[in-house]
Amino acid sequence: MYLNIEKKKPNFIIIILDTLRASNLSIYGYKKKTTPFLSSLLKNCYLYKNAYSPATWTLPAHISILTGLYPSQHKVLHSNEMIDENIVTLPQFLKNFGYISKMYTSNPWLDEKNGFPIKFDNTYKFWDLYSDEKKFLFFLSITNKIYNKIRSKLYFRGYFDKGAKRLLEKIKRDLAEQSKPFFFLINFNETHSLYSPPKSSKHNFTENLPDKTIERISSFCNLEKYFLFSNNYKYKFPSEDELVILEDLYNEEILYTDQVLRKLWKIFYDSNIFENTIVFITSDHGESIGDHGFLTHEFSAYNKIIKVPLLIFFKNNSRRVIDSNIDTTTIFPTIIHNLIGDEKKIQEFCINHQSLFSNEFNNLSFSEFLKPIISEKNLKKLVGGVLKNEYLLKNKQKVIIKNRFKFIYNSIISDELYDLRIDPSELNNLGKIEKYKNLINNLKKEIITTLGDFKNLDYDSGYEKPELSSPLKSLGYL
Ligand SMILES: [Zn+2]
Repeated sequence: MYLNIEKKKPNFIIIILDTLRASNLSIYGYKKKTTPFLSSLLKNCYLYKNAYSPATWTLPAHISILTGLYPSQHKVLHSNEMIDENIVTLPQFLKNFGYISKMYTSNPWLDEKNGFPIKFDNTYKFWDLYSDEKKFLFFLSITNKIYNKIRSKLYFRGYFDKGAKRLLEKIKRDLAEQSKPFFFLINFNETHSLYSPPKSSKHNFTENLPDKTIERISSFCNLEKYFLFSNNYKYKFPSEDELVILEDLYNEEILYTDQVLRKLWKIFYDSNIFENTIVFITSDHGESIGDHGFLTHEFSAYNKIIKVPLLIFFKNNSRRVIDSNIDTTTIFPTIIHNLIGDEKKIQEFCINHQSLFSNEFNNLSFSEFLKPIISEKNLKKLVGGVLKNEYLLKNKQKVIIKNRFKFIYNSIISDELYDLRIDPSELNNLGKIEKYKNLINNLKKEIITTLGDFKNLDYDSGYEKPELSSPLKSLGYL
């Protein structure tokens, strides 16, 4: 279907709510009211119930959204890896149609300085909350040490968000003076660890939890590498009770994000942009909060990490709920479909040319975990020599979700098959059961046809980067 927007050249906005797993949103049936605003929008949007991210972490996932390609196709598996010049990116494609492209980023991986390879006409960065704080705490900046200590205390008391407030102000100013057709990529990083809900959502699910406890439990996310790889007995994985609190802190960040979206929608309405704009809301990946023994979003591709929200809004849209498996590489062809009507031409630009406005879907998604964020050398340095569970660092995964089945093709450990219809938590691996042998062989073939085998790429074990910039360190990347 070619979307009938009155004026030609609709504006496009992709909102990426970083690290947001679908399972914790009330719009996807979660029992706690984490998304009252999004719920109120449901009657006027397209909601994709089974949407997947093609990658498990920020950088490759954003590149996939901006190119319509899977990680093993665009090959940007870590920072400072260049994108092939023959690959079409959304900002570049839209420039040919007279668009201006702007990236509003709250995540330091999306920064040229940290090796993000796709260029926008303008990039605005919002993770540096220090610039506001500095004004506020200027008189206290006696030494960096004292300053940082105070900052961290205030952070866990809910005084700051991760950039959303300032991002909203910037969008409001920009929309007021926008003349050309535009493409905005907006990344909100509020649901990324460390979870430190700002005051307006704080204690909504955690009631009277003291700030010290919030800080202690939230900091578990920074200890994930120790839990997984250290042989030191003092690193004990969080208890069930602690995980419940950790998840509720995450829920409060979701609720805060929902409040931010309410404000953003007001800006959109005040600027009258819905007359001629298509807005996508999605995430780059989800989050593990103890699920399968993991925290954050590395080393596994279970659904808590790859299943993400996906919604589309535009003028006069009616409610539509799509059950088919779909992944976020489809945003790229959807935008291209709306500029070029000719199906053949579209295929020149897109390998995967399924539009989200189609009437039929192929019920198929792919996802990949090909390179960990931390290198083996840095990890060994961090946890002190010999690693337990070393296979987690070296194992690569290629995933297909087709109809009710999810197959994980592992490079080192045994392959896994789950029947998501009866086992949505992926607890019962059917990979060794004889009657599924044919199905597994077919799914493996399909993976290899689309994504290639493990030997087709030059895989390092981790990425060797001597020094990460301090914004990345602040997100827990070591
Ligand atoms: Zn991310």
